[in-house]
Amino acid sequence: MKITNIDIIPVAFKEPPLRNSTGVHEEYAVRNLVKLTSECGAVGYGETLGGTEVYSGLEHFKKVLLGQDPANIERAKLLMHGAAPNVFSAYEVAMLDLTGKILGISVSELLGGRVRDEVTVSGYLFYHYADENYNENLSTESMVKEAKYWFDKHGFTTLKVKGGVLEPAEEIETIRGLRAAFPEAKLRLDPNQIWSLTTAVQVGRALADDLEYLEDPVNGIEGMARLRQLIRLPLATNMCVTEFDHIPASVRANAVDVILLDHHHWGGLWASKHLAVICNTLGLDVSMHSNSHLDISMAAMLHLAATIPNLIYASDTHYIWVNESDSLLSTGKLQIKDGKMDVPTSPGLGIDIDGEKVATLHANFEQHPIESRDDITEMRQRNCSWLPIKPRW
Ligand SMILES: [Mg+2]
Repeated sequence: MKITNIDIIPVAFKEPPLRNSTGVHEEYAVRNLVKLTSECGAVGYGETLGGTEVYSGLEHFKKVLLGQDPANIERAKLLMHGAAPNVFSAYEVAMLDLTGKILGISVSELLGGRVRDEVTVSGYLFYHYADENYNENLSTESMVKEAKYWFDKHGFTTLKVKGGVLEPAEEIETIRGLRAAFPEAKLRLDPNQIWSLTTAVQVGRALADDLEYLEDPVNGIEGMARLRQLIRLPLATNMCVTEFDHIPASVRANAVDVILLDHHHWGGLWASKHLAVICNTLGLDVSMHSNSHLDISMAAMLHLAATIPNLIYASDTHYIWVNESDSLLSTGKLQIKDGKMDVPTSPGLGIDIDGEKVATLHANFEQHPIESRDDITEMRQRNCSWLPIKPRW
């Protein structure tokens, strides 16, 4: 088995103006796709973060992977020494997809086998401005209303709010509004490190009985460690522990309870499985993080989640915000029902990529060649004096 051709395909797809503590999502999100072709004509896909830097990294490592065996992930990792984790991960997913297709088994089977056939996902809620598809949602009332829409559509049992947008007191009210509307739901709040320690203590104590965990309320390992002494809510992170080298300092400081794995950022599916084992050994929990993504990443996340026994939390995903027309799949978007998604079972990632849809999203990118995501500049279009102050409250 040999990789005989590699295509790197930047794509762009529409997103609503979703708010976060830094600013607002741009009209288009960008991703880089990797398409590997083998000597037998089989094709494997990977997907990773968009932007020029990642694209350059993917292009740079083409030459060392051409001619290699897609089943030999460890050798590829050595050949790609120095590659950014989000570059390696795209190749790794594509190699696993390709290998699975050639062997007739799924990526989750290649990763050791599924311990679950469906994956619970959270309903990822954002405050946002209005666009052609959504009314403005910048209050507790509109957030609860929109949560009902998503709940009716997908039956989520866990709801996550991207916070750090409104005054902390208003975000406390939002969580209380969701708690009242969804008494059984598990709730999460993620203000992306925008609060001071004092504010985080106030919010953490106010919501102590309402959240399953509080995600990145304050900046850094030290801040999280101090906060953890002052509130009883579990603390989760995808911002202060983002690579293996951060784990020892975090454990020594007793900074976090839950580490959010993300195969794009942690260097692939196998690396994420290793992270889960390390967390289990250290008495930490794992959950799954998400950036804006398309179907290929969704499928990879499902296969990964299916193979990690200690992934007991619902996985975050932005997938609900992808328009049906932007799906890359010939069958349309993967479905979320009762808050769960089936793990695809056919060979490789188990999804059928429509080449014409890839071409359409690539054409989108050529019209909107975003070099790197910039929520701050986008926010200044709406508020010219906007500054990404941290902590803001
Ligand atoms: Mg987060």
